[in-house]
Amino acid sequence: MPENQNIPQAGTSVTSPQIEQRYAPSEIEPRWQARWDADASLYAAEGHGVGEKGWGKPKYYCLEMLPYPSGALHMGHVRNYAIGDALARHMWMRGYNVLHPMGWDAFGLPAENAALKNGVPPREWTLGNVAAMKKQMRRMGLSYDWSTEVTTCLPDYYRWNQWFFLKMFEKGLAFRKKSKVNWCPECQTVLANEQVVGGCCWRHEDTVVELRDLTQWFLRITKYADELLEGLDKLEGWPEKVRTMQRNWIGRSEGALVDFEVQRDSESASQRVGEKIAVFTTRVDTIFGATSVQLAPEHAVAKAFALEDDALRVQIEGLLAEQQKARETDALGAIEKHGVNTGRFAVNPFNGERVPIWVANYILADYGTGAIMSVPAHDERDFEFAQKYGLPVRRVIVPAVAGAEESVLPFTAEEDAVVVNSGEWSGLECGVAQGKMAEFAKAKGFGTPTVTYRLKDWGVSRQRYWGTPIPMVYCDGCSPDEPMPVAESELPILLPEQIDITQTNGSPLGRVAEFVNTTCPKCGGPARRETDTMDTFVDSSWYFYRYTDAKNSRAPFDSDKANYWFPIDQYIGGVEHAILHLIYSRFWTKVMRDLGMVKNNEPAERLFTQGMVIKDGAKMSKSKGNVVSPDDMIARYGADATRMYALFAAPPDRDLEWQEEGVAGISRFLGKVYRLTTKYSAAAGSTETAPTPKDQVLLRRLHQTIAKITQDFDGRWHFNTSISSIMILVNEIAANEAAMDDGEISSAIVAEVFRGLILLLAPFAPFFVAEMWEQIGGEGVVFRTQWPVVNEELAREDEIEIPVQVNGKLVNVVKVPAGSDEAVVRAAALADMKVMARIEGKTVVKVIVVPGKLVNLVVK
Ligand SMILES: [Zn+2]
Ligand SMILES: [Zn+2]
Repeated sequence: MPENQNIPQAGTSVTSPQIEQRYAPSEIEPRWQARWDADASLYAAEGHGVGEKGWGKPKYYCLEMLPYPSGALHMGHVRNYAIGDALARHMWMRGYNVLHPMGWDAFGLPAENAALKNGVPPREWTLGNVAAMKKQMRRMGLSYDWSTEVTTCLPDYYRWNQWFFLKMFEKGLAFRKKSKVNWCPECQTVLANEQVVGGCCWRHEDTVVELRDLTQWFLRITKYADELLEGLDKLEGWPEKVRTMQRNWIGRSEGALVDFEVQRDSESASQRVGEKIAVFTTRVDTIFGATSVQLAPEHAVAKAFALEDDALRVQIEGLLAEQQKARETDALGAIEKHGVNTGRFAVNPFNGERVPIWVANYILADYGTGAIMSVPAHDERDFEFAQKYGLPVRRVIVPAVAGAEESVLPFTAEEDAVVVNSGEWSGLECGVAQGKMAEFAKAKGFGTPTVTYRLKDWGVSRQRYWGTPIPMVYCDGCSPDEPMPVAESELPILLPEQIDITQTNGSPLGRVAEFVNTTCPKCGGPARRETDTMDTFVDSSWYFYRYTDAKNSRAPFDSDKANYWFPIDQYIGGVEHAILHLIYSRFWTKVMRDLGMVKNNEPAERLFTQGMVIKDGAKMSKSKGNVVSPDDMIARYGADATRMYALFAAPPDRDLEWQEEGVAGISRFLGKVYRLTTKYSAAAGSTETAPTPKDQVLLRRLHQTIAKITQDFDGRWHFNTSISSIMILVNEIAANEAAMDDGEISSAIVAEVFRGLILLLAPFAPFFVAEMWEQIGGEGVVFRTQWPVVNEELAREDEIEIPVQVNGKLVNVVKVPAGSDEAVVRAAALADMKVMARIEGKTVVKVIVVPGKLVNLVVK
């Protein structure tokens, strides 16, 4: 407890400064932290049943994305959590029942890497990091309800991943199929993409990673593709850039599938009749302009050609290698396009024309059908390819307006454009032709209208150790290839803890006999467990539901609780999660809705993506040596100053350039508030007497600040300007220090202004505010005190009346804000209707302004 010997005995006029205390966050903050830690109910969500504390209150679910427990918070975390914490505290003060939880995305590869490097078991390493980061969060004074903490690597959480998996398997939403994986022949195991470095294994730098076909588990997210897409239109509280990224990721396109029949040259002995290449096109109206068919290197027809022709096989393998390299480095979009003419032909079913079949490195086997028709005249990429290899370019679309036929190729428009040189479809508008031609293909049996998506089913199998075991078994006796679900009552299937992951042969779980060997749920004979674990994105797809009922041991959560809290009112995190996490969690919500577990269609009503924290113009990173440690900042300036600076230095959606002088500046500002508040902490009295003009100046500034900050929380979250408006208020108070000391400002007003100031600071500097609240004798917990309400009357700027004369005679009186300068007063006078009427048709020779007094116009 602070010693309050400097509390003045009466009035507001205080004492000499030497007994004022200095602001010492290193003393204040740990003291309040200990008090908060001892009170579990302080930040706990309130029950919402009849008679419970939260009953009848509006709810507010404020959520920051849960971190990966890497071991230490970085400045990006500090910023993310400072935003969420300010919002949560503000909403409590606005009277909401607030849920503000935190947890740990605790499975994943780094724990395995650390085990390999330091010999610490993944569980031990992870839980040690959780403890360290939780300590940092407490030190920051973040208002989390730790009673709902979720740690995804613990069985009480991941058993529900397994439970969901069984439900999805039952519904046909979890299934197995062959898929490509990175395979290290040295390790004899599958590698994650992050473990492939420059095309080689991270542990065997000279070993080239192979792509292998492996049977893997998938979740059928494509079943919800349309709903995921359409739902984006309604997510108005999400940043437009995130919605656009998701739309592109889902990548819905309407088009047609058209079969081109393969025709080998007549000398080929192995010609198979009826072999077809299905191409997907969004522009079937351009099919008369197709001058080649192009295949992905892994397309079945390309493979068949390669078998017949060694030289061709070598070339196709070269194309495939280029493609894989580009895929690994995520450079597929910019790949230098190469192709090879196979010397074989395909027949365009619309006009019977033979076109050459090419294989190209930029065509992907797993996108569309892995084959396209190339129409150089009307597609940028096809045009580029045709120019490079000298393929013919044939125009079949022209602008609808007459005389525009000379338009430059490629001509890719489909609006206001018509089909030409295309038989019976010539003359149709492109859109009309697309529909009619797709229907024609269907009627003739060589195609069909169709929709494709870029979105693929979600591959969740990982041949890793540190993840949720997939709850399936295989029995050679019953059906060796048909996986069988374990009984729900057997969950959780525990991840074995004592396991050597330093060996390199095969899947880590596959080497643990006690794990693998089990009994068949059907025949009771010996069976094997699935040894794949789940992608960690499964963990983060539904963790926020668990927060509403984190201790439930009978279900993932209670539906009533989830239905009360959901959707999340505000979700806050980095834009790097715009696609994977935020699409998977939307999918998971829809699955849970269809299982009857929740009523909401979307997990989060509003999403906010904060900017990055940078230093010296670059993202903080160890390799650049520009990392600023939150611990250092807190040790030097306190958690309050560090957090407040993170909110003050830039609007929250922009990048923030970290400057230590700025943190020091905030610390000095808090020191000033500390000094003033301490000095006037005993101010009190009744506000019944009419305020003096000096009272009014302070009250006006206070209420203008209340209005500004309340608007900022309700609207665009310009916390940087919120904090600067508090600084302006404090400057105004400081400017009136002499007046307060002399009793020119009533004690009651002084008390009201300081009370308001402290409440306005509460979302931004919680330790400081708790201390100051106690200093001024505030009742109860400051964060449960009602947020100040603006008094519009008090906030309004005073106006003064200025008489306006024309040639010395009074014409009217105009109102201008107090303190207006000459130009404002002059403009107001000249804009007055009566004055304008009086001077109409005359020339104003001179305008005399006596500021605050009068305006005189001299006219002729
Ligand atoms: Zn290897
Ligand atoms: Zn069996």
